[in-house]
Amino acid sequence: MNDYYPFINTPLPYAYDALEPYIDQKTMYLHHDCHLQTYIDNLNAILKEHPDLQTWSLKEFLYRWPDLPPSLQIPIRNQAGGVFNHRFFFEEMAPPEESYIDLDIVKEIEKNFTDLNDFLDQLRQAALSVFGSGYAWVVVEQGKLKITTTANQNTPIDENMTPILNLDVWEHAYYLKHYNLRSPYFDDWLHVIRWDILKQRFHEAMSSKTESSS
Ligand code: MN
Repeated sequence: MNDYYPFINTPLPYAYDALEPYIDQKTMYLHHDCHLQTYIDNLNAILKEHPDLQTWSLKEFLYRWPDLPPSLQIPIRNQAGGVFNHRFFFEEMAPPEESYIDLDIVKEIEKNFTDLNDFLDQLRQAALSVFGSGYAWVVVEQGKLKITTTANQNTPIDENMTPILNLDVWEHAYYLKHYNLRSPYFDDWLHVIRWDILKQRFHEAMSSKTESSS
């Protein structure tokens, strides 16, 4: 994944219609080729004027933004967040026939929630609770799975929190199919989650925690 300026919009890892009937082709096309592309173009345009920042990785912008000049903090946080959040979201989905529940990650979920249904209920409530535009997230915090939300294109990335799943609840993610209804969009999304990626991200979060504390 290209992590440095100039950022390019890498293709989706599946066809635009691969998530049908749960997420429609037109939504995927607009979401990837127009919405994500705009964040990439805007981020490149800002960085073009600031060569000293062209060596920062995408993730650095997300957790080092307080080190940026004050006038750039919000614009870069918005644009870099828009790039990271969308790539993360698109990567974690797969055609419904490839979306198998992974028993290892379910075991982890059951350590922190009553059961898988309780976890999914809480994730749904989080997604529905976002007022306006934002994301629902599953993060690893101090070795534990947690659900959280962010507004706009903010991310929960900091020293203690590593995201492993996000759901884009901006209306552009579901409006063409579900109009104003976020709840059936959530139900559809459950059919296209790549649980193997969730497991992989969980293990990466756990091992980076061990490295940084050793
Ligand atoms: Mn989006």
